[in-house]
Amino acid sequence: MRHTGGCHCGKVRFEVELNIKKAISCNCSICMKRGSLLDFVPEANFKLLSGESDLKDYMFNKKVIHHFFCTNCGILSFGNGVTPDGTKMVAINLRCLDGVDLSKIKIQEYNGRSI
Ligand SMILES: [Zn+2]
Repeated sequence: MRHTGGCHCGKVRFEVELNIKKAISCNCSICMKRGSLLDFVPEANFKLLSGESDLKDYMFNKKVIHHFFCTNCGILSFGNGVTPDGTKMVAINLRCLDGVDLSKIKIQEYNGRSI
């Protein structure tokens, strides 16, 4: 299923091919503070439509995940990372998708703090 989404101010917009079955709630240091609910897609399923020049890349710790946020409104709507086998993935912040009722989606806790 094709979804659209983006940041709060509207500069960053994307579309993504994603069948939402679950939302991952991660307890790592940044996801805790951000309150994001995530799902992951291969890079090919993601297309940035606008806002490339408005994104800032924030990295920390092992610096393997790119936490892209909008420099205008501060919202992180997606991030980029690589799986252990080298597949490029995009983490979608499901809270930033248009018209998705997250109350109907199963939340899966992820112990990101332990890694
Ligand atoms: Zn924005």
